[in-house]
Amino acid sequence: MVVIDAQNDFISGSLAPICAEDVADKIVLFLSGLTPDDKVFYTQDWHDDGHCSFLKNGGEWQTHCLAGSHGASIYGGFSGVMHSPNLNNSFKKARHNDKEEYSCFYASNEAGVKFHQALDRDTDVELVGFVSEYCVLNSALALIEAGFRVVVYENLCAYISRDGHKDALKQLRDAGARLGCVI
Ligand SMILES: [Zn+2]
Repeated sequence: MVVIDAQNDFISGSLAPICAEDVADKIVLFLSGLTPDDKVFYTQDWHDDGHCSFLKNGGEWQTHCLAGSHGASIYGGFSGVMHSPNLNNSFKKARHNDKEEYSCFYASNEAGVKFHQALDRDTDVELVGFVSEYCVLNSALALIEAGFRVVVYENLCAYISRDGHKDALKQLRDAGARLGCVI
């Protein structure tokens, strides 16, 4: 299970879509039903102040997920689950100022392990998180392109617009992802 960008800025902060807290709580609930053998990974958008995606730097987004800030931290609800975020299972992306990076494929953890290297190729990669139209979509497409079997739980993905969500799901289906609903 991969929880994409479940960070305060995308849940209650500067770029939070509607119903994001509701989705976050649903993901927490889902994780609470996993077993010790299940694997959970988290990804984090992790920017410097000079990142090209920020409006003030010519990009299209409000300033968000500044490295080390509260907004970049993973939503507090996840600290209570068995597979809670830690330096090993959390992978940070978009650290280079000159590059947008919606996909978590090349994100890395504290030890420098790349996200895609941490995944097991023999099992489905299940994706949930924030948000359908950007980081979930691009992460899933990159994983599919690299040969992973991807499942996206559509009711555990927050989105900016319903149409954008539907369009992202269509792109995912067309690319070969399996879509599912849980809980
Ligand atoms: Zn970002």
